Amino acid sequence: ATAKTLPTIRQLPPNLINQIAAGEVIERPASVVKELLENSIDAGSTRIEVSIQGGGTELIRIADNGCGMTAEQLPLALASHATSKLPDDESLFHVSTLGFRGEALASIGSVSHLTIRSRTETDDCGSEINVRGGVIEPPAPCGCPVGTVMEIRNLFFNTPVRHRFLKTAQTEKGHIVEAFTRLALANPQVHFVLNNGDKLVHDLPVTERWSDRISAFFGGEIAESLIPIKSDDAQIRISGYVCDPSVSRGNARMQYLFLNGRHIRDRSLQHALVEAYRGLLMVGRQPVCFLRLDMPAEMIDVNVHPTKLEVRFTDGGRVYARLLQSLRHQFLSTDMTQRVGPPA
Ligand code: ADP
Ligand code: MG
Repeated sequence: ATAKTLPTIRQLPPNLINQIAAGEVIERPASVVKELLENSIDAGSTRIEVSIQGGGTELIRIADNGCGMTAEQLPLALASHATSKLPDDESLFHVSTLGFRGEALASIGSVSHLTIRSRTETDDCGSEINVRGGVIEPPAPCGCPVGTVMEIRNLFFNTPVRHRFLKTAQTEKGHIVEAFTRLALANPQVHFVLNNGDKLVHDLPVTERWSDRISAFFGGEIAESLIPIKSDDAQIRISGYVCDPSVSRGNARMQYLFLNGRHIRDRSLQHALVEAYRGLLMVGRQPVCFLRLDMPAEMIDVNVHPTKLEVRFTDGGRVYARLLQSLRHQFLSTDMTQRVGPPA
């Protein structure tokens, strides 16, 4: 038999590694918006302004008034697996920030033209750094307010396949609005602004009442049908609102679940919700809800999914039971049978 030629095993260059990593977390412009908003929130910002053009493929600009970064920190922030959010190795098991993988900026910078301008409170002058397709230029001084401005242009310019899979600007804008909505709902303590081209889409001032933020997004019908939910035990706290059965939907998209401030999707918790509404909804209808679950970080593993949309509970059965029980308890005292809506 003829000898087979052995394939060469090669160590990939860092830039290609980052592009591969970007494939996991940066699927479309909305993924960039999500990652950057999370960073701005982690930076302690109280005001965050998002501006997009061309569905985010031409421009995504996010300006915050958070802690900012120094000139020395900027290149590090762009390096892969570099984060300020895991101060020691133990922290991975009780993550309290939205980020911790240290991959987002490296990934975004490898598939776009990224400019960061940033200044900390103690610095008189800000710094600017530019990355094009993973090639990082040295930082230079620039004038800017305290906080950080991120500008992303030409997303996926060097990854033709990803670029081809982009939908129309209108569709991409829709995904961005959804990502923005989830983060703005989860953080009523932050003033959020969203501009699309020269149009103002949302201007959401800080509020203490979560229902204000909810009605700013979804308006009267939903705001009027909110039924408060509140339940506490030593470890699991559940709060927020479910909606009157009359505002049910044909799909589960309006079921907003936030776990320790992070928007999540969880089949088991969705099941508990539907179970609680059993007999109150027409077949095939889905309830609308805005629920926050808070529990010690040790009870959750957020490190199972690159975008952290799904999490794993150490005791999923207990969380399920607690949610179902607190919804049922509230429904009993609300006389939901009076609230069953007209057939859809
Ligand atoms: P992660 O959020 O997982 O740490 P990122 O790549 O998203 O990773 O960000 C890397 C680091 O850059 C962060 O840990 C943080 O120190 C810094 N950083 C990113 N965005 C901001 C921002 N808007 N304000 C201040 N620091 C930021
Ligand atoms: Mg991040």
